[in-house]
Amino acid sequence: MIGGKSGDDELFELFAMSAKVLARSGDPAAFLDWIARHGPDFAPEMARGIDPRTGPPGLAFRAMGVAIYGAMPLPEAGFQSRRLPEPGRNESCLCGSGRKYKHCCLRLRGILDLTGYNMLRHILDSTPKKRFAGLPGSRVDPLAVADTARQWHEEGDDGRAAALLEPWFAGDGPLEARLEPLFDQLMDCYLALGRESKRTRLISRVLARGDSDARAHPAGVARQDRAGARARAVLDRAAGAQSRSSPRGPDRLPAQGSRRS
Ligand SMILES: [Zn+2]
Repeated sequence: MIGGKSGDDELFELFAMSAKVLARSGDPAAFLDWIARHGPDFAPEMARGIDPRTGPPGLAFRAMGVAIYGAMPLPEAGFQSRRLPEPGRNESCLCGSGRKYKHCCLRLRGILDLTGYNMLRHILDSTPKKRFAGLPGSRVDPLAVADTARQWHEEGDDGRAAALLEPWFAGDGPLEARLEPLFDQLMDCYLALGRESKRTRLISRVLARGDSDARAHPAGVARQDRAGARARAVLDRAAGAQSRSSPRGPDRLPAQGSRRS
């Protein structure tokens, strides 16, 4: 955990701005130069907290930049993250500080752990909707996609969340287990948007696929039955969500603490 509430807000802002830069180009040197220069503007509280004896704030932000870069799924890499190659202890540091690695980021290894943050959300905030259709064919993590949609849903942006999720169900296959969280989230979004007929159509399509595949490939019946059972289970959950949900006012504020996974 880094910092308190305002520290978290600053981190969110820093991640969002970093994603904006990295969505355009995954060039690490340019990104690290950018964060050394502009990071303190987006995270002033964090910048003030840096011990001046360790050097100018830009150097600390470079180190932070290495951690952010390593955790950010890059569009040009099929939405997978890419870690910077580790230098030898006496070689110059990967953050571009000009210091030896052993006197710089090697000391921070393990301290700047960003694995608990859903960085994909920030990249997708900076990705045009029309590119969402390519995500199922990329190397993106479906769980991070589902979590991103959940965050947008909680912030009231169900239209964008549905646009993100729909391409995952455009194919003909039965509902794969790994796609269940996305299916559940899409059901919630359709409910929030009042798209009842779209919701019903998708449910029956998913159910029908499992059954027709089972008929076409008898050897795969057991597998397909499981797919059908899963589809029915998510259908039950969707029905449960419907009975729990209540109409939402137009002025609903984003839920606190909903920004990270
Ligand atoms: Zn360094």
